[in-house]
Amino acid sequence: MTDAASQPGSAVVTAAPPADAGPTEADWTAAVAAVRQLPADARVLLICHVNPDGDALGSMLGFGLGLRRLGVRRLQATFPGPPEVPEPFRGLPGLDLLVPATEAYPDPELVVCFDAASESRLGELADRLTGAGAAVVLDHHASNTGFGDVNLVDPRAAATSVVAEELLARLDVPLDAGIAECLYVALTTDTGSFRFEATTPAVHQMAARLLATGIRPGDISRRVFDTRPFGAVRLFGEVLGRARLEPAAAGGHGLVWTYATQDDLARHDQRPYVLEALIDSVRCTAEADVSCVVKQTTTGEWAVSLRSKGAVDVSRVAVALGGGGHRFAAGFTGRGTVDEVVDGIRAELPGALLKPTNA
Ligand code: AMP
Ligand code: MN
Ligand code: MN
Repeated sequence: MTDAASQPGSAVVTAAPPADAGPTEADWTAAVAAVRQLPADARVLLICHVNPDGDALGSMLGFGLGLRRLGVRRLQATFPGPPEVPEPFRGLPGLDLLVPATEAYPDPELVVCFDAASESRLGELADRLTGAGAAVVLDHHASNTGFGDVNLVDPRAAATSVVAEELLARLDVPLDAGIAECLYVALTTDTGSFRFEATTPAVHQMAARLLATGIRPGDISRRVFDTRPFGAVRLFGEVLGRARLEPAAAGGHGLVWTYATQDDLARHDQRPYVLEALIDSVRCTAEADVSCVVKQTTTGEWAVSLRSKGAVDVSRVAVALGGGGHRFAAGFTGRGTVDEVVDGIRAELPGALLKPTNA
């Protein structure tokens, strides 16, 4: 990935890259130097975003296993909030690197962040960026604020694990099955198992490199995407049964939405992470371009997932409401009642249209 404006060999700390441009050669060099120049006893802290998904955990743990192969001994991986790993990811290699946020090194020599577009996605761990050590950011959100000392942000990358794989290669760490499984979970999560637009030839080439280590894609996919408790199956039935279709919303492109409360979870004895898969059952609605699931996190607070098929830039909606994400997959934290949250979304849709109205 050579850039005409790059300065090979330079260890200059770079500012946020312009939207859509990937890391420069100088960025890669600075990131490699940040790892290679670590003293033998340096503490390295890896942090991924709150409510970690497959890309956050997979890219972090895969990179962590690579650092371990490089001989980094004092190494922790963590994420903000409760230290609960969602069931689908409890078979990931490298889980032994994980520590609760409360036990994370207070002043590590190096911090590496994964799949977080801004410091706010690091919650209470954001203070680790201000310590004496260097902060390297690996991400693929176009909205990334460039909050690291070194920012490896590639909006064209299908997943943060694409960036992680390249940095490992530049550090001369060979892929093994453990690293590959983590990066594969990340890649399949963010490409919807190679179904989304981001599924480029480069994505399949990376998948081929990962599969060549001998990992078993059938087992991994079943564990990560196709397994849920019976209680969650019944909960999905209930939540999908109350979905609403609004054909006139989004300039006539249509909106479909539903919600799930903490009471719904309690009634079916389910943990919040099971709701992450709900959006996939909602977004298949033919009559709506935009889909939305509003998930209660505490009283009056909701984690909102937005998806679009191309008529609307849902990241614009999410950013306007205090969140972020990608053009066709975004989210934010909603406050108030469900109706107030959905009212807020409806109001932002006209300003986020990418296609003429369908009226
Ligand atoms: P989700 O619907 O949780 O799968 O998230 C879809 C996308 O939106 C991901 O790329 C997230 O990084 C982003 N996202 C979700 N929630 C938030 C939030 N509260 N703030 C910023 N970005 C978010
Ligand atoms: Mn993510
Ligand atoms: Mn991602």
